[in-house]
Amino acid sequence: MAIRIERVPVLSDNYVWLLHDGASGETVAIDPGEAAPVLAAADTLGWQIGAIWNTHWHPDHTAGNAAVKAATGASVTGPAAEAAKIPGGLDRGIGEGDALTLGAHRAVAMHVPGHTAGHLAFHFADDALLVTGDTLFAMGCGRLFEGTAAEMYANMARYRVLPPETQVLCGHEYTQANGRFALAVDPDNAALRARMAEVDRLRAAGEATVPTTIAAELATNPFLRAQSAVELRDLRERKDAFRG
Ligand code: ZN
Ligand code: FE
Repeated sequence: MAIRIERVPVLSDNYVWLLHDGASGETVAIDPGEAAPVLAAADTLGWQIGAIWNTHWHPDHTAGNAAVKAATGASVTGPAAEAAKIPGGLDRGIGEGDALTLGAHRAVAMHVPGHTAGHLAFHFADDALLVTGDTLFAMGCGRLFEGTAAEMYANMARYRVLPPETQVLCGHEYTQANGRFALAVDPDNAALRARMAEVDRLRAAGEATVPTTIAAELATNPFLRAQSAVELRDLRERKDAFRG
């Protein structure tokens, strides 16, 4: 049975992802930066949150951990390297290659540093599902707060070779701003122009633009398309200064 996916908007532009396995009834909440909307969404769906997974320590991804745990008894799993920075800590600290389960569905943690030093992605290979937190966004990538462009480039190289149909669940609705920058650096990309027209339409209607896919990012994301760490560093510096 396919994993069911619910996108829960929290704070100003974060997304919490609820993943639910119907066969076992298990539900995981990924990066609850705020608890109340996540608990309400799960309640509406009739899903019982049994686990919280964190991609990284930033408060907009972890501030709701304690309240979700208090309300549901969920266990908290996240990057062992960042346990001390996560409010309430972790019940299970993990790193590269560690396995996670949602019912019979299996994910593997990928260590993808750069945005934070211990940042994790969660890859459900059999389900063609990738949770990227603040590393890969629709048409963008995360800022380099605790790492290097070389590290982020290595992450992108790992993402680039995943099956193109892989769904990408990222941590923020940054797509429109990312797309404006992408168009500034890649103005002749027809796929990018078409995608941006669709994104503008969705945002004008107040709709979300994610999940995305590896295929869509390969066609339009300048950071995923960068051919070297130097190129990615240059793009990241230009994006940091960009006022679109
Ligand atoms: Zn972050
Ligand atoms: Fe974030």
